[in-house]
Amino acid sequence: MILGSTGSIGTQSLEVIQELQEFGDYKVFALCANNNIDLIENQARRFKPEFCVLYAENQARDLEIKLKDTSVKVLSGIDGINFIAAHERADYIINALMGQIGLLPMLNALRAGKNIGLANKETLVAAGDIVMRTARENNASILPIDSEHCAIWQCIQGENLNEVEKLILTASGGPFYGKSREDLKRVTVADALKHPTWSMGKKISVDSATMMNKGLELIEARWLFNIAPDNINILIHRESIVHSLVQFIDKSVKAQMSLPNMKMCIQYAITFYNKNKREKCKAEELDLLRVKNLSFAEPDDKTFIFPELARFAIKESGTLPAVMNAANEAAVDLFLREKIKFSDIFDLVEQAVNRHKNIKKPDIDDIINCSEETINRIKRHFI
Ligand code: MG
Repeated sequence: MILGSTGSIGTQSLEVIQELQEFGDYKVFALCANNNIDLIENQARRFKPEFCVLYAENQARDLEIKLKDTSVKVLSGIDGINFIAAHERADYIINALMGQIGLLPMLNALRAGKNIGLANKETLVAAGDIVMRTARENNASILPIDSEHCAIWQCIQGENLNEVEKLILTASGGPFYGKSREDLKRVTVADALKHPTWSMGKKISVDSATMMNKGLELIEARWLFNIAPDNINILIHRESIVHSLVQFIDKSVKAQMSLPNMKMCIQYAITFYNKNKREKCKAEELDLLRVKNLSFAEPDDKTFIFPELARFAIKESGTLPAVMNAANEAAVDLFLREKIKFSDIFDLVEQAVNRHKNIKKPDIDDIINCSEETINRIKRHFI
């Protein structure tokens, strides 16, 4: 089942499933999207799921009419998403929803013992403690669909997690690598969406341009691999060939390499869960003679403050990471709608983190309330 089937990861997941059907019995049980009715109709006709869910109620009614000649059942709203996320016939869920909206369906799925391929890193950032605990209690696994974490996942196979000394997350640096805060005042939405090595959805492209993506990934890694935030380093690697590295206590370092291609991560998350193995993939081969050089550099933490802000937030923990994430979601949305400047994203998120009164041991309602308050307060100023 795919939550978020019409986004960048969702559409690529369906391509992967189609390719995997050559090797086994891969069926799509349900598709779920926000409001992209034309695309989900196409997907439903191609993959013949039992259910389609649209978050938007009106579009769901229209979709139901369009799919009248099929046996696909159409549901709507958060209730519809929660229903399919915990459905007994769904055995594996790709959570590719965008932002914190994915949190409640994710928890529902985990409570029902579902294994999850996670592309929705915001859920771990906002509520990592609760999410990981729920997974453990219900014997459910979370497999990362994020190139860095997929790389680490591959590097630690056959290893003992107690022997991991540090994780090194690589970062391309995004389209504004090398620029100053002053330069960043003049960048446009189109500039921010032009990623040098990866083709991705809009929100994550802006997150890569601000380096918030790496901040979110630091927190994601802290939870997925149960490692102290200070033992996660960030390294600029412009070529996006080395997807991340793991250093062990004997100072041996393992890295995972390939050409940048999300479909390889998606496929690994599916086949690893399903058969604990790899399958052939139509990805292009990495030719190191053509790449020639791999370069590494220190990140510019003064201009791109988010990775260190995220480290601070996760060390403080409580509701602070959720508030940082919510402020970022609000600011990125305002920037994409051209209501604020690119450089305002840094200020808005930093202010939200600084003024938040942290709740140290939050429950899920605290997390959701703090996030909503943050989003509303930021948006009130600009809309
Ligand atoms: Mg990533």
